[in-house]
Amino acid sequence: MRVLTRGPGKKRGCLTFALEGDALAMVDTLKFDFVVIGTGPGGEGAAMRARKGGKQVAAVERFSQVGGGCTHWATIPSKALRQAIYHTTLCNQNSIYKSMEVQAKFSFPDLLATANAVIAKQVDLREGFYDRNDVALLAGSATFVDPHTIEIHSPGAVTKRITADAFVIATGSRPFRPNDVDFTHPRIFDSDTLLTLDRTPTSIAVYGAGVVGCEYASMMRNMQVRVQLVNTRDKLLAFLDDEIIDALSYHLSENGVRILHKEEYERVEATDSGVILHLQSGKKIRSDVLLWANGRSGNTENLGLEAIGVVPNHRGQIDVNEHYQTSQPHVYAVGDVVGYPSLASASYDQGRFAAGHFCGDSNHRLVQDIPTGIYTSPEISSIGKTERQLTDEKVPYEVGKAMFKHLARAQITGQTVGMLKLLFHRETLALLGIHCFGQNSAEIIHIGQAIMLQPPPNNTLRYFTNTTFNYPTMAEAYRVAALNGMNRVF
Ligand SMILES: Cc1cc2nc3c(=O)[nH]c(=O)nc-3n(C[C@H](O)[C@H](O)[C@H](O)COP(=O)(O)OP(=O)(O)OC[C@H]3O[C@@H](n4cnc5c(N)ncnc54)[C@H](O)[C@@H]3O)c2cc1C
Repeated sequence: MRVLTRGPGKKRGCLTFALEGDALAMVDTLKFDFVVIGTGPGGEGAAMRARKGGKQVAAVERFSQVGGGCTHWATIPSKALRQAIYHTTLCNQNSIYKSMEVQAKFSFPDLLATANAVIAKQVDLREGFYDRNDVALLAGSATFVDPHTIEIHSPGAVTKRITADAFVIATGSRPFRPNDVDFTHPRIFDSDTLLTLDRTPTSIAVYGAGVVGCEYASMMRNMQVRVQLVNTRDKLLAFLDDEIIDALSYHLSENGVRILHKEEYERVEATDSGVILHLQSGKKIRSDVLLWANGRSGNTENLGLEAIGVVPNHRGQIDVNEHYQTSQPHVYAVGDVVGYPSLASASYDQGRFAAGHFCGDSNHRLVQDIPTGIYTSPEISSIGKTERQLTDEKVPYEVGKAMFKHLARAQITGQTVGMLKLLFHRETLALLGIHCFGQNSAEIIHIGQAIMLQPPPNNTLRYFTNTTFNYPTMAEAYRVAALNGMNRVF
């Protein structure tokens, strides 16, 4: 984990509580309208929205900087690392550099270090949001003592009491760690501690093939590390469209990742020379390091939830209603701590939505129709129904496809692996699902999303056949896929 602390000369109001403890020690209890616990995307979205609604807002954060796990040990470092690996891969594959005998060689920590600059920029930007909007930032760990009061504990600072009319719990999640795996061993990592790996491993076993497991398996393989990906289920990322799952499996395997399906661990044996993952099937997987990427737990411990009668489930997650209210209507919960979809994108909107509800805003929209963005190689993105779902629901649908290898832009960039697939109702021509893999899929999906979420009759495949696209672009894939789909309609 990268910790970028700021010195005492810092100008902005971040972590006021620790820095101005003496002054604040004069006050017994602070009162706000709205208090957010956690400054990840969920907390930030809620704090900013409540402030725009004219409320007096405070945000409590136990880490030394704002931004949440998202900025410091999850989304941002992993995506910055991926980009750095991508650049070195491109350089090493480029024929011009090859002829000049230029070869990019970097270690895992070198590449990871590039993330620090991005993290610092993100922290600076986000601190500015709290500053400009006059949201008080309070450093320390929040614990409920009664339904309208929290205590903030910070080492070396006076414990403070804060009362508020409403609260948002946006405390995020952490990797699930089974008791029988020794995470103190220097060869055993989870997605948080992997960011402390101080060398390039020769091989890695990734246990758990969810989004995080698949993303890190891709990244490590692109660094030429030998990768074995152990999936506890029978397919990778089963929530995706089958054709996309097949494409991911094919490209990971083709790139050299060994994938094992339907395997459960029996025990983990870590020694000075490596880690052996003993599987219940009798197989043994030996690797230099092990990445445990099997599930996450909500950060609800030590929150004092028992004092307000909110009971988390066995994964530490909090149940909420459609307004993100817990069983205490004035206590909201958003982001990873409520479970699905556990995305930074959705967490931010959930926070805004919860605060909008508190402010009595009838225009706030439900957080639904969330696209997936999966940064494997190839990148994957999708929104809406899969073919499997539409078939089960007996919806009369058709398919239109564009293969990236047939697009001029992809040929020019050399990024020809990929496909855009549109699923649409064969009678109304309304888009029902969009599935994409290949370079920039996570961006490409949003063009289709903008049409698919229009009310009838504006959600129509005809938009793409009647629109002139820039040429050469990847966006053109929509016209190609739409025309391909229309050809199947009779
Ligand atoms: C490796 C990895 C890659 C990811 N990549 C993506 C991606 O590409 N795209 C995407 O959309 N999502 C991605 N995610 C998911 C994304 O990071 C999370 O969904 C998002 O961070 C959740 O936001 P949040 O606000 O709920 O919590 P967080 O961002 O985790 O923030 C929670 C904050 O609450 C603080 N906190 C906790 N308890 C207390 C307390 N008692 N008092 C005070 N403060 C407290 C924590 O210190 C933390 O700062 C990724 C996750 C991982 C692990």
